[in-house]
Amino acid sequence: MGFSNLARSVIESPTLRLNEEARLLKEKGEAVIHLGIGEPKNRAPIAAILSSAARLNTGDIKYTPTDGLPSLKKAILRYMEENYDRILQPENVIVSAGAKQSLYNVLYTLLNPQEEVIVLAPYWVSYPEIARMVYGVPVIVTPEDGSFHPRLEDVERAVGPYTKALILNSPNNPSGVVYADTFISEIVDLCEHKGIYLIADDIYHKLVFDGQRALPALTCTKRDIESTKVITINGVSKLYGMTGFRIGWVAASRKMVEIMTNIQAQTTSCTSEILQAAAEGALTGMQSVVEELRLTIENNRNVILQQLKGFPGIRVVKPAGTFYCLPDFRAYSDDSVRLAEFLLRKALVVTVPGKEFGMEGHLRLSFSGSIKDITEGVERMKWALDPNAPNEIYIGDRKMIRDWL
Ligand code: PMP
Repeated sequence: MGFSNLARSVIESPTLRLNEEARLLKEKGEAVIHLGIGEPKNRAPIAAILSSAARLNTGDIKYTPTDGLPSLKKAILRYMEENYDRILQPENVIVSAGAKQSLYNVLYTLLNPQEEVIVLAPYWVSYPEIARMVYGVPVIVTPEDGSFHPRLEDVERAVGPYTKALILNSPNNPSGVVYADTFISEIVDLCEHKGIYLIADDIYHKLVFDGQRALPALTCTKRDIESTKVITINGVSKLYGMTGFRIGWVAASRKMVEIMTNIQAQTTSCTSEILQAAAEGALTGMQSVVEELRLTIENNRNVILQQLKGFPGIRVVKPAGTFYCLPDFRAYSDDSVRLAEFLLRKALVVTVPGKEFGMEGHLRLSFSGSIKDITEGVERMKWALDPNAPNEIYIGDRKMIRDWL
């Protein structure tokens, strides 16, 4: 008579909850600094804006094919060829409302009830939740303390008779770690050998620093797209800083795309034509926007690392990609949820508790915002936690005195 047990068991997105709390504080005029959300500050690429505006101007906005506008799919195929060295067919690609829906479609398509999905910690919080939403069971593999890089032997040990898939996210949200090439190719081999689907969430794949690159899993298999176990997810949210446009895609076998198309046809029909046009504009427009964004974020990464150096007690693994780092705050608290709440209430800084990513004692800090927010945000955190930091600080135009240390 009540609501479904499964539906009620879906956890509230912690990021969205803290965002909401921060938004309400901001509405009250509080000088909140957001180090929580993973969203670059850039304007959408002009090519995306013009392309969607042109489509909107026709006034003729209708359903598109469920799997996406043919012209957008063509742009995605070109992207796959240039970045993955794979010539795919339109039947190998389906466009969805963001990589998140792509992932949902993939897991819905793959899992029978109680089948297992291996998730590598620290992980994006939606992986285990979506797995549970489709009656699957997430199996978490945690790296050794102090590292964010899982070990192959631990992954091998997690494989059992019910293992159906493994999710690989490199560069990794929330740690910023880029997995070693050898690890990725060994995981691809392991999955193909054992008949496990490998879901490669490549959403950050060009946001890599220090002249490195992230090896796409799809480039590690010799099998063709129809027989490989590697399923690729990507989208425009992070690449072009177009989070609000909600366009992601999956590249997989024809059979799998066909099933996902049936699922999407019964859930959302298709994504908006206007937003698909924007994604097409971004993919076919000047690609220097991606490099500009990457450089800005790399610079932000350097600034936050510099700031965190002066934060006694915390340990930081240098992020090699994404716009997140996941410092270890156990010197201050073992309870990351309480710590994040404390920092929001006392210092008006939004962070995300590491517990939500399978890394208790850590906080995820996003450096996708402005340099001012990064430097001021870390200063405020130091003020709130470090007894040796000056006990007076200005938050907005209010002088605050620390009286709890
Ligand atoms: N995968 C990861 C690892 C992410 O961090 C995110 C966004 N936070 C997504 C997928 C979803 O991206 P989209 O905006 O395309 O749904």
